[in-house]
Amino acid sequence: MTRKALCGSTADEIYLEIVSSGHRYAHAVAIANNIYKKKVHDIFLIHGIPGKLREKLSGIYFTGIFKPATSEISADKTVKYLFRNEAGLSYETVFIPDRKRNTVCVSTQSGCRMGCPFCLTGQYGFHGNLSAGEIINQIIGIPEAGIVNHVVFMGMGEPLDNLENTLKACQIITSEWGLAISPRNVTVSTVGITPSIVKYLQDCDCNFTLSLFSPFAEERIKAVPVEKKYPVNEIIELLKNYPVKKKRRVSIAYIMIKDVNDTDRHLEGLKVLIRGLKIRINLLPYHPGANDVNISSTDVRMHYFKHNLIISGIPASIRASRGVDISAACGLLASGLKNKF
Ligand code: SF4
Repeated sequence: MTRKALCGSTADEIYLEIVSSGHRYAHAVAIANNIYKKKVHDIFLIHGIPGKLREKLSGIYFTGIFKPATSEISADKTVKYLFRNEAGLSYETVFIPDRKRNTVCVSTQSGCRMGCPFCLTGQYGFHGNLSAGEIINQIIGIPEAGIVNHVVFMGMGEPLDNLENTLKACQIITSEWGLAISPRNVTVSTVGITPSIVKYLQDCDCNFTLSLFSPFAEERIKAVPVEKKYPVNEIIELLKNYPVKKKRRVSIAYIMIKDVNDTDRHLEGLKVLIRGLKIRINLLPYHPGANDVNISSTDVRMHYFKHNLIISGIPASIRASRGVDISAACGLLASGLKNKF
């Protein structure tokens, strides 16, 4: 029999495996706590359950917790990890320390099939989906596991193109028997797959970010090809009409490229697009890959956008770049993968 990974299993799933042998739901919760909170690497080290259950478990499961293959540390203390799963898929994870806020940026796929030309992960192509356990292991398999208090789904891949595993990972991250991180501290980012957005908003309490690039469909389609199938206008309408769950943060990520999407026309278009929607806009600097002729908007231009949005009543902020020197910043993941494996 093929053994399954405990990491990635819910307390209910574990219970279903053990109930027939007379074990209680409390035992399933104890097992989940050992995996997700104590990061126990060996089934025989799981505490709080009978010895016979440990033996039974070892015949069905392995822990599924494994270490990254390599790591690189940035001058700003950001760390980029490279994982490789049993199937040989490579994917990267970024740990971002910032005073009391310790964030892990997880990948949901090896590569990505969305094909956004400004993103190096898109250029790496699609190699496969990651399981919920492989997503969770990026949080509990790194040396900083014990201090992580924020998770963002902004690494390699489009999370809503791997919806089932993304939703399950969010459930494990936020459940009391899991990592017990508040949904307010977990953010899923997407370029916009409308049916998956609907399901995500229904089933998950975590925050939501839409990556925009341009308020104009004819421009956005060149940078975010999924715009052709799922126009952003329709997504904005959906968000306007969707009852926002209490405390869920909904935002737009706007990567700014000099003279490409940072003109006054874009600023006005942005305001028109989101009129009537309570949403924060996060302005992000662009990180060009090698041989890219495009460069990021200047600090002055980014502050001009921020100021204009704020005086128009739209909350806006500028997100600082982290880990640029190790290609861990937004859009740069997968830049070295072809060389490594
Ligand atoms: S920007 Fe996001 S969705 Fe687009 S190719 Fe990169 S990882 Fe995929």
